[in-house]
Amino acid sequence: MSNKRKRFMLAEEEIPRYWYNIQADMANKPLPPLNPATHEPLKPEDLYPIFAEELCRQELNQTDEWIEIPEPVREMYKYYRSTPLVRAYGLEEALGTPAHIYFKNESVSPMGSHKLNSALAQAYYCKQEGVTNVTTETGAGQWGAALSYAARLFGLEAAVYQVKISYEQKPYRRSIMQTYGAQVTPSPSMSTRAGKDILTVNPNYQGSLGTAISEAIELARTTPNCKYTLGSVLSHVSLHQTVIGLEAEKQMELAGEYPDMIIACFGGGSNFGGIAFPFMRHTILEGKQTRYIAAEPASCPKLTRGKFHYDFGDEAGYTPLLPMFTLGHNFAPAHIHAGGLRYHGAGVIVSQLLKDKLMEAVDIQQLESFEAGCLFARAEGIIPAPESCHAIAATIREAKKCKETGEEKVILFNLSGHGLIDMASYDKYLAGDLVNYELSDQEIEKNLEEIDKL
Ligand SMILES: *Cc1c(COP(=O)(O)O)cnc(C)c1O
Repeated sequence: MSNKRKRFMLAEEEIPRYWYNIQADMANKPLPPLNPATHEPLKPEDLYPIFAEELCRQELNQTDEWIEIPEPVREMYKYYRSTPLVRAYGLEEALGTPAHIYFKNESVSPMGSHKLNSALAQAYYCKQEGVTNVTTETGAGQWGAALSYAARLFGLEAAVYQVKISYEQKPYRRSIMQTYGAQVTPSPSMSTRAGKDILTVNPNYQGSLGTAISEAIELARTTPNCKYTLGSVLSHVSLHQTVIGLEAEKQMELAGEYPDMIIACFGGGSNFGGIAFPFMRHTILEGKQTRYIAAEPASCPKLTRGKFHYDFGDEAGYTPLLPMFTLGHNFAPAHIHAGGLRYHGAGVIVSQLLKDKLMEAVDIQQLESFEAGCLFARAEGIIPAPESCHAIAATIREAKKCKETGEEKVILFNLSGHGLIDMASYDKYLAGDLVNYELSDQEIEKNLEEIDKL
């Protein structure tokens, strides 16, 4: 046996007791969300009708650097945390790179992705505040599955709107949600005004996250004791996800290295923020030189080709106006197989960080992402989620650069989930049936003009 260590784990006592709130340390704080009617900055109370109150306070908290993880949530974290930090020797060898590649394996949660880290917290606060029902939207079904399970654990009823194309393409995620006892409705549906408005104009509309969000918010607003929950984009979601990076920080210490680059795929920014923010704390406070790279799909390029502007978080315009990098709330992303990345905007924290050049973004085409996923699967044994394949593709690009220059850079990426329930997508890739999507500048401009009027 060589003494090369493959996996770095933490004992249960070392699971973090606090989440890290990067807003407290940012020199330029995110701009406030605005009431769309009055354009007044939002106060936490304005969000109480939609979200659990504690989550509203966390959302707008720009002063407390550390927020205590409630004990019942930490107890549930023990079911699957810490997640392993793994040195990707297999991938390094396959690439012939001198880079040291590490990944944080969030695919080991019972749901197969990082989403449970926030679902547990959100369900807990809802229960604490006397809520009985929760609702949400889901694309590929990762968030819906996580919320369904968390709701079950804390004794809440869950109603999930699933983007119609995913409801049809990913039947097993629907079964998972139903196994945990959730009600699942394909979106757009005729059960909400938002859904009806879209279906009467376009009966064949295959749905989008933006539409499903509108439906879930409408249900929460019109149902007593029902709160809405969101699996990404919002600041309190990335707050909860910082358990990933806080663990990784300790685990990298065990490995005796510090990352030069941190890479994650990007849908709304929660797994990226989760792994990056605790390290970025050292960049902000101590000037530590680390690159933070978000990998988004070329077909939904809000970070690389979108605009920093106030926009709605959903299609129907039910949310507050959020200052974010966006493609416009009417942008309809192509039906790529990484459903969790098909969202028009980015969270307000990451948007501010990108604007301030504290982080970078790259875009990845669908074929490159699956090619990277297959290479990783063959080298490390884990079949990555189509979303996570984007992080792997960006990692491979950087590792190849190291091969050219001979530099032994340390790269840490987040494996946000496994792809074992996404094999229909791999089937299509292996059969040569997947394509890249080219987005013209005109297509992007069209939706951006709309938001100039907001
Ligand atoms: C939802 C999801 C994502 C994208 O969401 P973020 O909030 O950007 O992290 C990425 N990977 C997996 C596996 C997901 O389920």
